[in-house]
Amino acid sequence: LGRLYGPITAMSNVQVDVMTALVSFERVLEVLDLEPMVADAPDAHDLADDLRRHGATLELDRVAFRYPAAAEVSLASLEDVATLGNDPVSDTLRDVSFSVPAGATVALVGHSGAGKTTISQLATRMYDPTAGVVRIAGADLRDVTQQSLHDAVGVVTQEAHVFHDTIAANLRYAKPDATDAELETALRRAHVWDLVASLPSGLETVVGDRGYRLSGGERQRLAIARMLLKQPAFVVLDEATAHLDSESEAAVQAALDEALSTCTSLVIAHRLSTIRNADLILVLSEGRVVESGTHTELLGVGGTYGDLYRTQFAADAARADEDVAAA
Ligand code: ADP
Ligand code: MG
Repeated sequence: LGRLYGPITAMSNVQVDVMTALVSFERVLEVLDLEPMVADAPDAHDLADDLRRHGATLELDRVAFRYPAAAEVSLASLEDVATLGNDPVSDTLRDVSFSVPAGATVALVGHSGAGKTTISQLATRMYDPTAGVVRIAGADLRDVTQQSLHDAVGVVTQEAHVFHDTIAANLRYAKPDATDAELETALRRAHVWDLVASLPSGLETVVGDRGYRLSGGERQRLAIARMLLKQPAFVVLDEATAHLDSESEAAVQAALDEALSTCTSLVIAHRLSTIRNADLILVLSEGRVVESGTHTELLGVGGTYGDLYRTQFAADAARADEDVAAA
């Protein structure tokens, strides 16, 4: 990976033209759970010690964030660049504070562009905050080694990357020394073992563009299996319902429930079922937390969450009502 990292770091000085390259590079890093934008402090310590003592709590304390200038320029029109300056209104996140107890699930909801993905990237230290502190297990992420952070964190996104390689090799990206038995356990927990077992070459089946074509739901469950194999203390999920038929969706949901049951999680939630089960829901708007609470509490308030519930989650809610009626 060092070979990839060097040239692309150098290229990032070229700014706008390489944004596309950077985006796909970030996707590679996502799969490998690596973070390129930050460096270890000279006296960085091992997060595992904090996790043993405090459990995997997550805390954002008065966090503000603004994307680095090159990225900003690429998105702003040329006339806008002059006005970007130090205007706090152009910050992507503003004064975000919340804390999640060990083992709990926090769900982020809000319209597109509200800052959900940005929060998840700060929580995994893809970037450092511009102001404020991000802590896992009480430790400021800037004070821990990146290796120990990688070991503690698992990320599953909508992209659900699969390399053109065998299923076994795809899983062993997360844990190189995993036995076949461990792979099977992870695949079972992710509700995708039946598929793997039905393939003529089983774990040795080559998947990806030029191999066995996995459906969107299958790819996602494979990505979840990869995460389960890693047994991270803290999990970030960017949920996806798009492109999944309802059978896949149920299987993915079951796999996610399994993944969420054993660790602290931050979920960018699109499914009502995930949101309902979350211990804490944060409603984001224009980079701020505008409401927080449980599903029932927030519906009672009759604010932004109520509006989102009636619009984004309306179809989900109708289906849930049908299920209740059918039961
Ligand atoms: P959400 O996940 O809620 O849809 P994001 O966190 O992706 O929102 O984006 C929040 C804001 O930050 C948006 O205005 C978006 O355009 C901007 N943004 C996202 N990624 C970048 C980036 N790499 N560089 C600059 N701005 C970005
Ligand atoms: Mg997003």
